[in-house]
Amino acid sequence: MNCITQKTILIVEDEAKLASLLSEYLALADYATHIIADGLAVVPWLRTHSADLIVLDLMLPNRDGIELCRDIRQFSNVPIIMTTARIEEIDRLLGLALGADDYICKPYSPREVVARIKAVLRRINPEQQPTIIPSTPELLSLDPLSYRVSVGKQSISLSTIEFMLLNTLHQEPTRLFSRNQLMDNIYSDQRVVLDRTVDSHIKKLRKKLTVLLPDYELIHAMYGAGYCYEARLK
Ligand code: CA
Repeated sequence: MNCITQKTILIVEDEAKLASLLSEYLALADYATHIIADGLAVVPWLRTHSADLIVLDLMLPNRDGIELCRDIRQFSNVPIIMTTARIEEIDRLLGLALGADDYICKPYSPREVVARIKAVLRRINPEQQPTIIPSTPELLSLDPLSYRVSVGKQSISLSTIEFMLLNTLHQEPTRLFSRNQLMDNIYSDQRVVLDRTVDSHIKKLRKKLTVLLPDYELIHAMYGAGYCYEARLK
């Protein structure tokens, strides 16, 4: 499995529970999400952030999905999936030629929405390569004697475990390491370590690396699978 850039799904939905349920399902499918409940907040957010796809509810406070779809199409081709509580609305929406990419009727199963999102993304950009800057292992230099990692003249010190985790991941950029593989590399003395221990070391490691390289995300979690190293601009 390759390490791929995480896509961001904007969920425009005023039913808070539904929005957070969908967000959880999308997180399981390794998407980043952002939720907006107010119709008027959508365009300003899109002016300053990027989304790979929008799940847009029809009935929203202050500005509805139809108006929003038209607003967004003025400046963006981002894929839009519209959701509506009324099945009879879908024909009407299709007739309006809003430029949405798909329509889903509520109540929906979040699992189905995730499948439809994947299908739309595949259809829109079948051969789109994720925007990953070339792997730059030379960005960091690791000193196995002092357990320090440096970028240029700046350096930070890591714990033994943090250093070994980083060293393992860093030696093979983009390769996905399972928690077990990481543990095997680190604990050659066969000590039993729980998965969450790896997670908490990675968490601390990421925090330290942020101090060193605030503009980069270096260690990426692949849900349920493990971690990989890749220098990507935030
Ligand atoms: Ca609504």
